[in-house]
Amino acid sequence: MTKYDLIVIGAGNVGTFHAYHALQAGKKVLMLEKDAMPVEATVRNFGQVVPSGQALDTWFEYGRTALSIYESIQQNVDITARQNGSYYIASDDDEVQLLEEAFTLFKERDYAATLLTSERCKERLPALQQTYGKAGLFFPQEFSVEPRSMVHRVRNMLIQYKGLVYQNNTTVIDCSIDQGIVMVTSAKGEKFFAEKVAICNGRDFKALLPEIFDNSGLIISKLNMMATMPMPQVALKGNILSGLSIRRYDSFKSCPSYPSLTTPAWQAPYQQWGIHILFKQALDGSIIIGDSHEYASVQAATELDFSIDMRINQLILQEAQRMIQLPSWEIQQYWAGYYSQTTDGGVYEYQIADKIFIATGIGGKGMTTAPGYTQKRVHEIFA
Ligand SMILES: Cc1cc2nc3c(=O)[nH]c(=O)nc-3n(C[C@H](O)[C@H](O)[C@H](O)COP(=O)(O)OP(=O)(O)OC[C@H]3O[C@@H](n4cnc5c(N)ncnc54)[C@H](O)[C@@H]3O)c2cc1C
Repeated sequence: MTKYDLIVIGAGNVGTFHAYHALQAGKKVLMLEKDAMPVEATVRNFGQVVPSGQALDTWFEYGRTALSIYESIQQNVDITARQNGSYYIASDDDEVQLLEEAFTLFKERDYAATLLTSERCKERLPALQQTYGKAGLFFPQEFSVEPRSMVHRVRNMLIQYKGLVYQNNTTVIDCSIDQGIVMVTSAKGEKFFAEKVAICNGRDFKALLPEIFDNSGLIISKLNMMATMPMPQVALKGNILSGLSIRRYDSFKSCPSYPSLTTPAWQAPYQQWGIHILFKQALDGSIIIGDSHEYASVQAATELDFSIDMRINQLILQEAQRMIQLPSWEIQQYWAGYYSQTTDGGVYEYQIADKIFIATGIGGKGMTTAPGYTQKRVHEIFA
């Protein structure tokens, strides 16, 4: 019988960085994943690492820590992390005001930011529509990663150089504690043993401890996404965020003028579907465009699974075209991504007897904050 210091359940970004920090601390770690490879939120997202969008509290700090963790890994192994920065582009005077106020807030936090005039925005982003960008705010330190490969490369690096033991196609259905040891049972009846267990199961609440998640108050969010055909001739470097993102992201809620911000009538359907517009050019030259937010309780989550609502995609495309000009808007892929989230913008933590540690519900900030947040969490697990 092998006994691990830590078994991590779930190989998304939250699970993978639990493993990363535990291995850094010299622990013996096993990570179990239910699918042949992780295919959930961690590989379906934009790959924008944007501390600038986070609530200006511990989540912003976790994002800052994550920047240095991604950077230090990238220096040794190519995990697709590119430091091309993030652009927030304002389309009206209210959004310009928020950018100017946010610039001050980030300066106070000693976080590099540059205000851009309309002309500078167009110089930096030639694809920007003439009529859209009134001003911009640029964060030069921020990263983009390729979500479809990043987490696999980090995991392979941990297996190859740090001694991670990994097993896929292993759905965990039970964790129980006997004489201070946690026994983890898979759907195939395999047993694994550890001192501590971290459950990082994303939005999958049916297989393992469903009674806890039924009472967790967590919400499931569904996001519509799409990618154009590859366009290597278009240069859209970095993370591109729209006026609707400025109105939506938590950091801007700390701006003095935010409480008096009004919503123009045309934005009503965008608010209804939680749409804001983001762009990220993937390494193959395709432009990833999204996103929207439909919500359901844990108990009603199946309702979100059935179809992709094309009315939402049309709204996304309409606003994307108002912002950016592309040689073609031929879409090669549509997909939906899902994550669990809390109602207070934090993360869901639950602990059983100082042995079993649940961490999920990180919401829409897991690519940005998980490497920093899990550093704190692993410290608590082994305290
Ligand atoms: C469309 C979209 C766009 C996004 N864009 C961004 C962005 O640009 N920047 C950003 O910071 N964040 C973004 N996010 C959020 C980010 O993707 C998530 O916060 C993050 O991926 C969550 O990671 P996770 O490990 O908690 O969950 P997941 O990625 O869902 O991983 C959980 C893993 O656990 C496994 N699992 C579940 N149950 C079991 C079990 N019983 N046994 C074994 N394995 C199990 C699952 O198979 C899965 O692989 C986006 C999310 C979406 C959906």
